[in-house]
Amino acid sequence: MPRRTKIVATLGPATDDPQVLDELIVAGLDVVRINLSHDRHDRHRERAAQVRARAAALGREIGLLIDLQGPKIRIGQFVGGRVMLHEGDMFAIDGDCPLDGGTADCVGTTFLTLAADVSAGDTLLLDDGAIELTVISVHGRRVNCTVTTGGVLSNNKGINKKGGGLSAPALTDKDRQDILFAATLDADYVAVSFVRCADDVHLARQLFEQAGGHGGIVAKIERAEALNDLDNIIDASDAIMVARGDLGVEIGDAKLPAVQKQLIHLARARNCVVITATQMMQSMIESPIPTRAEVFDVANAVLDGTDAVMLSAESSIGKNPPLVVEALHRICEEAEKQARRSAHRIDSVFGRVDEAIAMAAMYTANHLGVKAIAALTETGSTVKWMSRISSGIPIYALTRHRMTRHKVTLFRGVYPIAFDVATTDVHEVNHAVIEELLRDGVVNLGDLVIITKGDRSGVEGQTNLMKIMRVGEHCLHLED
Ligand code: PGA
Ligand code: MN
Repeated sequence: MPRRTKIVATLGPATDDPQVLDELIVAGLDVVRINLSHDRHDRHRERAAQVRARAAALGREIGLLIDLQGPKIRIGQFVGGRVMLHEGDMFAIDGDCPLDGGTADCVGTTFLTLAADVSAGDTLLLDDGAIELTVISVHGRRVNCTVTTGGVLSNNKGINKKGGGLSAPALTDKDRQDILFAATLDADYVAVSFVRCADDVHLARQLFEQAGGHGGIVAKIERAEALNDLDNIIDASDAIMVARGDLGVEIGDAKLPAVQKQLIHLARARNCVVITATQMMQSMIESPIPTRAEVFDVANAVLDGTDAVMLSAESSIGKNPPLVVEALHRICEEAEKQARRSAHRIDSVFGRVDEAIAMAAMYTANHLGVKAIAALTETGSTVKWMSRISSGIPIYALTRHRMTRHKVTLFRGVYPIAFDVATTDVHEVNHAVIEELLRDGVVNLGDLVIITKGDRSGVEGQTNLMKIMRVGEHCLHLED
């Protein structure tokens, strides 16, 4: 049985070596992430081209996810590169302090209106929570604080406000430029950082589509405010990301496990795809093996029902990225054996014929000992519905559209296959599907297979047929 949970890995200096990239692809990478917080466009363009070339050479479909930097609010720079802050020290973040003129008393910020969003008593977290400040008073653009947790503070570290509430809009000018860039790369997904509400997602989609983009939009859930508009954000998005790094800083790390479960459940229930991200294999940036805690974390995300698990620094700057993907692969595969069947649609009313066919196929597959599901799909929506139902049965998305094949790389339990038949004859199409599955070595003589498709192939939203066939007997039908 192929692994169902998908693996997303961030590209970086550690994956630039062609040998390493090939090993990553062979180890089972499904989607690559390009993080626009680092490096220049020409570098990203080279990386995207390199991945596409190697995936094609190795016969794999790999999705491309472009991650926008977003309004990560940062302090400026220190004259000496860094300062040491001690508990009890006074320290100010000041919009009027020169961006490169920070000292042990005061540092500038790129977010000039910080002072308007905070008041005495608020907690500010710097460097993903490593340094904690308590706001004492606000004067003009200056926020005076005392240090509650000290440490070394270096240039350009991020600022979060505990509980959320920093008002920066989700799309910065840089993000708007980067969306155009993502369209020129023909990105399969664009991830929007620090989404506050559904309108942030709508705006990103509008800009991406205006620029000629066709891919999906991923909303990164990493702000406390986003948790108040979850249903709408999920409905506006093709996928969400449980962005545990920034989210953990805003809501507190102890709340993360429950929120991760809630996000995964809600996404699946609302037909949305979900990626679990950040620090899943953190120790493997250096180490050849994960910690036991990391093994449990990945397995638990799989049991929660995540579509994909994501690597950040583990692959982009890690010591041995292919080894990390191999570890993820084996942990996911083993955890999937424990996966339960879902019953969350048992009482629902289906809105569309194609959705009803998708659900009927999954119900049948889960109860009839079927070897594989083959869905002829245009946009991938049939297989997305199918993959929202827990099952151990592989779902093959057969499509002539490259973009659809790349989109489904993120869907749990769904595998893309390039498929184009000229004939409209029902028997001949069925025959061609089974022959394709046989050629790919995913079914054998005597296996049962479910095929879903529309009367009129090549048209979106037309799936209205479910056919159950036995491999071997598919040839008989041709002679009828
Ligand atoms: P980042 O997002 O890696 O772009 O910060 C993920 C997260 O915050 O967890
Ligand atoms: Mn983040």
